[in-house]
Amino acid sequence: MATNGSKTNGTTSRSRTGIKVIVVGAGFGGLGAAIECHRQGHNVEIYEAFPELKQLGDIISFGPNAGRIFYRWADGEIVRRMRPLSIDLTKYGFNIHKYDTGEIVINQPTPKYSVEAPNFNGHRGELHEVVFNYARDDLGIPRNRISTYFEDENESGIVLETGTKVSADVVIAADGVRSKARKTVLGYEDKPKSSGYAVWRAWFPNKDMIADPLTAQFCENGDTFNGWIGPDMHFLFSTIKNGSDCCWVLTHPDEHDIDESWSFPGKLSEVKEAIKDWDPMCTRIVSKTPEEMLVDWKLVYRDPLPTWVSPKARILLLGDSAHPFLPTSAQGATQALEDGVCIAVCLRRGGKENVPTSVRAHEKIRYERVRATQKTGESTRDMWHKTDWAKVKENPEIIQFPRQDWIFDFDTEKNAEEMYDGVVEGLSEV
Ligand SMILES: Cc1cc2nc3c(=O)[nH]c(=O)nc-3n(C[C@H](O)[C@H](O)[C@H](O)COP(=O)(O)OP(=O)(O)OC[C@H]3O[C@@H](n4cnc5c(N)ncnc54)[C@H](O)[C@@H]3O)c2cc1C
Repeated sequence: MATNGSKTNGTTSRSRTGIKVIVVGAGFGGLGAAIECHRQGHNVEIYEAFPELKQLGDIISFGPNAGRIFYRWADGEIVRRMRPLSIDLTKYGFNIHKYDTGEIVINQPTPKYSVEAPNFNGHRGELHEVVFNYARDDLGIPRNRISTYFEDENESGIVLETGTKVSADVVIAADGVRSKARKTVLGYEDKPKSSGYAVWRAWFPNKDMIADPLTAQFCENGDTFNGWIGPDMHFLFSTIKNGSDCCWVLTHPDEHDIDESWSFPGKLSEVKEAIKDWDPMCTRIVSKTPEEMLVDWKLVYRDPLPTWVSPKARILLLGDSAHPFLPTSAQGATQALEDGVCIAVCLRRGGKENVPTSVRAHEKIRYERVRATQKTGESTRDMWHKTDWAKVKENPEIIQFPRQDWIFDFDTEKNAEEMYDGVVEGLSEV
């Protein structure tokens, strides 16, 4: 299971650091952290609870700041595998409609494709499978549910459900929004709460859409992306794979208690009721959805955690376990990947003797950026849900999906390398 530093899948590992890293969770966050720790020369073990890879979910977005990370894996091979699975909006762009009249307020052009920092929008399960298989072929991914985490001054570890104890120099808890490590890190139970919104989401083949002359337009000339923006709701609709599949998401207010579960079967009648006063095209699209493909996804949120690092600094929360994002940021998975790059660099820079310092340095390097990016999920949602249409008439550009350079142009590996020494110096002064 442990990695040996050989050349694998085109990725040359650096010299070995001797640092043993346990990664819990094989979502994008855990897989990214494992792959990056391997790249930086650490010995990695991944543990994942799900018994088999399932193509769960629907659309997921990765910004160029994630593409830059993927591009470094297997000499660009991972990007080459992900590209055909992703929406291509080079020609179409993003049509933003007013919710009631349906008029296209603006067509937001798609940014130029960058080979070294591509962005991806595709089926979560399909893109996940590419990354999962890459990590599994290099690292192995045993199926094991983790019961608890532990640490002392010299090591940290996990206890599997079977009772087996495994220890390492550091444990990266990438076990999602319900992370079991959070209590060890924080010292108290921190429950997820409702964000006040849920998302109806669906992904299905376009057969009925093509048969209807009014919706066939979305399936005939390549991939498309349209959004209807209205009071306290927004509806995003894409056709993908040259028009053969489609997906839509409708964010709507929801105050359900999400203590036990956050994904429920959706009811088409409820969706139709919610958009009954909207552009009839929205109902037409929704009507094509097979009800069994509809999910009502409760958007779980958390107040920012005061820390992602355990008291002895040998357990680190990463990805959603540290900081869940609203989908309107389109950065949840990307920031999880950035985390993995940063901790891998910090551990190499600090070496085996200084693991706790490296873990603390990672948090210092990442915390403010993650928080600022997280806030864009709220600001974009509020911008769309509380639109001043008179102002949009004067300047339609204000309703565009924000594409901030400080998010997208960021090279997290370069940043971690540049900041590490200064941050560690600052830590020793405290
Ligand atoms: C099933 C699912 C579907 C999703 N669909 C979408 C989507 O369609 N669009 C979107 O934008 N975002 C989606 N997300 C969220 C998105 O994937 C995350 O925001 C982002 O990828 C962060 O990933 P992560 O690795 O931090 O967490 P997660 O993706 O939640 O991964 C956590 C992993 O840890 C594993 N795990 C949890 N507890 C244990 C344990 N005790 N022992 C061992 N392993 C454990 C889980 O099985 C899971 O694989 C989905 C998440 C999940 C879990």
